Amino acid sequence: MLLSIKDLHVQVDGKPILKGLSLDIGFGEIHAIMGQNGSGKSTLGNVLAGRPGYQVTHGSIVFQGLDLLSLPVESRSLHGLFLGMQYPVEVPGVSNLYFLRAMVNHHRKHQGLPEQDAAAFLKWARQKMALLNMDPEFLKRGLNVGFSGGEKKRNEILQMLLLEPSLVMLDEIDSGLDIDALQWVAKGVNLLRDASRSMILITHYQRLLSYIEPDVVHVLREGRIVESGDKTLAERLEREGYGSVS
Ligand code: ADP
Ligand code: MG
Repeated sequence: MLLSIKDLHVQVDGKPILKGLSLDIGFGEIHAIMGQNGSGKSTLGNVLAGRPGYQVTHGSIVFQGLDLLSLPVESRSLHGLFLGMQYPVEVPGVSNLYFLRAMVNHHRKHQGLPEQDAAAFLKWARQKMALLNMDPEFLKRGLNVGFSGGEKKRNEILQMLLLEPSLVMLDEIDSGLDIDALQWVAKGVNLLRDASRSMILITHYQRLLSYIEPDVVHVLREGRIVESGDKTLAERLEREGYGSVS
């Protein structure tokens, strides 16, 4: 198992949000997590990523044999966990190029690799951007500053392509995307799909899953997984709504 979550209970400001969530993700698997607004999907992502403000009151998370909850946020990323955010933040004053290169070099250092110099990085980043149909001009802009919803999401996927993480979690990567942007995002995700890398796709819509085929689909309700199945579960939810889940 790459990731094993057992009986996870999480509170925010004393309010229970996740109430006994268990999830196992094997190597090379893509899992989709669906569920109504407020069911706890982003909370799960935030807990995995180590965002402050989420109190784990019970349960465990083992990632690559490590006790994830005891790892500081930064080292979770260095160990290969990546969260593509539902709402990427704008950081004025920090250029996208500077941010991406610092991120990549930090990871390379941790892996004992030499830093990439500016010219080599630029060339490599441009190749990855071409795969996503992103204009290289986006490197010069402030990180996410004034990016449209679709451009922000594509920039998240660019980070993922540059880091090649072992566990990718994408929180509503499809929300606010037009069909073209969705196809480019899906292409980026599918490019990284391989036998050693696993992904968690948080989504409301079956549409994303017609471009990125999941191995397993889970339905989250009131902080726990109430049904799991193959991709036909997502198709059923699209037809019948969450009311069809008992
Ligand atoms: P989803 O992503 O499935 O829509 P979330 O995980 O964002 O759901 O939220 C689950 C519940 O937790 C919601 O009722 C939400 O209001 C609450 N919640 C999440 N984060 C916070 C927070 N920082 N403060 C207070 N309540 C929160
Ligand atoms: Mg959410």
